[in-house]
Amino acid sequence: MTLYSSSHGGERRERLYLDHNATSPLRPACCDAMLEAMEAPRNPSSVHAEGRAAKQMLERARKTVADSISAPVQSVVFTSGGTESDHLGVLGVVRGGPKVRRIFVTATEHPAVPAAAAKAGVPVETVPVLTDGTLDLAWLEERLARYDAQTEGPFLLCAMLANNETGVIHPIAEAARIVRRAGGYTLVDAVQALYKVEIDFSTLGADMLALSAHKAGGPVGVGALVVTPGLGIEPTQGGGGQEENRRAGTHNIPAIAGFGKLAEVASVAEYQQLAVIRDRIEAGLPSGVRAHGTEAPRLPNTSLITALGFSSQTALMSLDLGGIAVSAGSACSSGKVKKSSVLGAMGVPEEETQTALRISLGWNTPEDAAERFLSVWTGEYERIISRAA
Ligand code: PLP
Repeated sequence: MTLYSSSHGGERRERLYLDHNATSPLRPACCDAMLEAMEAPRNPSSVHAEGRAAKQMLERARKTVADSISAPVQSVVFTSGGTESDHLGVLGVVRGGPKVRRIFVTATEHPAVPAAAAKAGVPVETVPVLTDGTLDLAWLEERLARYDAQTEGPFLLCAMLANNETGVIHPIAEAARIVRRAGGYTLVDAVQALYKVEIDFSTLGADMLALSAHKAGGPVGVGALVVTPGLGIEPTQGGGGQEENRRAGTHNIPAIAGFGKLAEVASVAEYQQLAVIRDRIEAGLPSGVRAHGTEAPRLPNTSLITALGFSSQTALMSLDLGGIAVSAGSACSSGKVKKSSVLGAMGVPEEETQTALRISLGWNTPEDAAERFLSVWTGEYERIISRAA
């Protein structure tokens, strides 16, 4: 099912949306939950009947979200999305409870994480990734063996669960174990991984988990920071003391209700099926075209390809004209096509990174998506390559 169609040259065709890692269309069930929540004033901090009804909606959503990742209910702090959750996690443990004194950031994190670390006022170090895109555990182990948390103070590792461009899944449980042994804390950005792979906060070993609803078909503008009980984080802004003094600001109940519904309806099994379509796309590419991160565990919905001679910009525009939406690596707020820094960190030559194309599937991707993508993409690729020859 697609939610919209477009017309090209008078012919009306359904568009094929393959950019779910940028944002996924809102699921009808989430939309219904949001509409219901919008029918009345909903401030859960108010003591009257309307406020109490809002509080019920809030706590129901908190429980569903917490249960969906096997986390304690009170560990879920609702935020405005992944960017805020990353900032709250980083700044919260530098300014609050543990008083973190150094931050290690994996090289392929979403820009929200290094941006938050840069504001923290403590030294920041980059953790390299291997050529398969996974964080370098040997580097981490060796570096932390030289780190003395007793004298240098507690530290924080920021490592994403799954990369937004390649879909590569990092060995988070192992990294968190190394970090804990060395006296540190781990913040895991699980924004892209949520509901696409199993997440069990109770066994992962992370201290904090950053979530966002819109990458899996929930509403934009809502997410959560999951915080291990007892880890006293400092809120990034003062005010009404909501979320047990961890995140001030009136709750966005319609968005939170939509997130709660997402936690009920989204499933890992649903996403696992998409790997078949993703694999058909990769198998149908001509020789010389590379899919990246394929040697590592990956999200089932994501493929990042490079095709020398076929720039991201040209590919994006041709696909768009052919009715297909994809992106060049990550979505960029300027609307410009930006080269992939993730591929750079994996050691891919610059000339190749300029041809990166991310195809990301989601809950409403049709069965014939691989064939439709390949038909448009291959036609354009062959035209451009034969012209250059
Ligand atoms: N973290 C990752 C890995 C992401 O891919 C994104 C969005 O692209 C974010 C954080 C930011 O999330 P939000 O758009 O909810 O602020």
